[in-house]
This record gives sequence, structure tokens and C-alpha cells, in this order.
Amino acid sequence: MLIARCDGHAPLPKHEHANGHQTAASSVLQLSSKGTQRDATTKWEALRDEILKCQRCPLARSRTNAAPGAGPTDAALMIIGEAPGRQEDMEGQPFVGAAGRLLTTLLEGAGIERGSVFITNVVKCRPPENRPPDPTERDACHPFLLQQLELIKPKIVCLAGRVPAEVFLGPQVSMSTMHGRSYEREGRTCFVIYHPAAGLYTQALVDVMKEDMSCLKSLLGQGTSGLTEARDGQQSLTKFFGKPTKT
Ligand code: SF4
Repeated sequence: MLIARCDGHAPLPKHEHANGHQTAASSVLQLSSKGTQRDATTKWEALRDEILKCQRCPLARSRTNAAPGAGPTDAALMIIGEAPGRQEDMEGQPFVGAAGRLLTTLLEGAGIERGSVFITNVVKCRPPENRPPDPTERDACHPFLLQQLELIKPKIVCLAGRVPAEVFLGPQVSMSTMHGRSYEREGRTCFVIYHPAAGLYTQALVDVMKEDMSCLKSLLGQGTSGLTEARDGQQSLTKFFGKPTKT
């Protein structure tokens, strides 16, 4: 597992064609990518309908609406939270309550447009009294999350809070030491942040979350090429990271 810490280096320059003109090959690639995109959107719509009707676990009985997820199917960034809350349950959308508004503020403060991000949760239906989803519920819903990852293929999977961090990184998660760092796990680059709801209760965490979001933006801008040397089971700093976190 990679442990890497953002140090705020500037993004790498974008690759541009030498004469600035589109080549025939790039036109073909664009057409093919549009076709692939349409395909992903169609598959996502089918998956969303399946989630809306799902009865796989007991949360189906207490929900008002499932909140399958929202965002573009070609998003470079996927944010995964814990579970829908009251507002999300009412609207059938992820992160639309107070925590969602803080998430939007944090994203946009770091220069990440919320509309460019695919946002979902570990479980798609609200647990009663907003309790954490239990292992049976997480397991029942996990195939949906895996299908979303397979469809969207995000460059970075941002794990917002302890529950999603546990799902992807294992049970020994410590948010105070793992937030603001990226981890390579099963071919995915995962980045850990506090759940935005934590910032609603502890104002001091908001500054920490702003810093983490800025690291995430930097990681997105640079791509993940600097992480390729990392492999599961190894700890190695990359050229983009180095400063240990103080929180
Ligand atoms: S939480 Fe997931 S598995 Fe459970 S009913 Fe909702 S969609 Fe189905």
C-alpha cells in the first residue's frame, strides 16, 4: 500500500500537438471515445434503475428513495461517502444536505467543479437514524459500487470518511493519520479525506479539509504517473509527495 503526501507541486504541463491541429487519428479517437461514453451512460442508466428498485438488504424497507449516485460517467474523480442521510433519502441524490453543501464549498474552493465529479456512497439507501451501515448492508451493496467504478474508471477514488476508507483500505483505518494521503490499492489510486459532516461538528477540521482538498486537486492535475512505482504492500514516497501530515 502506498502512503504518499501531497506537497502542492504545480501540475505537469498539458500535452499539446506540435502544430496545434487535430490529426485524422485524433478525430477517430474522439469519435470512438464519444461512442464509449454513450455506452457508459446507457449502462449507468440501467444500473441506476436497478439500484432504485433494489431489495437486496433491509435498508430497502426503511428508505424513501435510494440515492444511486450522480455525476458524469467520464469523471476523473469519484467521491465515495458513507450512506445517504435524511435529505439525500428525500431527494434520491447524494450529498445534498448540509454536509453536501460543505463538500461543494470545499471542492470549489480547491478549484474542482462539483459537476465534474461523480459522487456516490458505500450504501445507496439511508440507514435508520443515520447509523453507519453494518457489514451485511455494505456487502450487499458493494457490487453496485464495483460496477460504478468499472463504468466510470476514475483516475482517483476519494474516500470521504472512515467507512469508505475501511471498505477500500482495510479495517485498520485511522482517519487522523490517513487523511490527505493517497494509497494504491488493487490498481486504484485512493485518496482519503474526512467526511464533510465532520466539518459541521468540528470547525477546526474545515481547515484540514481545505488543505486535503487542495492536495487532491494537485493530484488530479498531475495525473497519477508519479504513483506508478508504488505497489500494494510497499510504502514509497513519490516525487510529488513527501511532507508528513501534522494532523
Ligand atoms: S443499500 Fe444497496 S443493497 Fe441495500 S437495498 Fe439499498 S441499493 Fe440495495
